[in-house]
Amino acid sequence: MIHYTCDLCGCPISSERYEAKIEVAPVHDPDDISSDDLTADHLQLIADEIDAMESTGEFELEETGTKKLNLDFCESCAQRFLRSPLNLSPGPRVKFSNN
Ligand SMILES: [Zn+2]
Repeated sequence: MIHYTCDLCGCPISSERYEAKIEVAPVHDPDDISSDDLTADHLQLIADEIDAMESTGEFELEETGTKKLNLDFCESCAQRFLRSPLNLSPGPRVKFSNN
């Protein structure tokens, strides 16, 4: 049986588990696509990459800049995340004094 840990509070998730799938990707303006992008021989590029991998033993994927995050939350943290997705800091909230 797989045991999940809440990515926010760090406690083991025993009952309801919630998942947030977040993708952060650079946005390209479609108008910025050059004719080179459209005519590039991608199969040839992949073949070249495989050749390089076989000769050097190293394989480098081109960095696309897209990052995918899969976060697991316990029920209370899921509620907290939905209320304030950009304020994820765990622990007690900062209290502002009135004076
Ligand atoms: Zn939690």
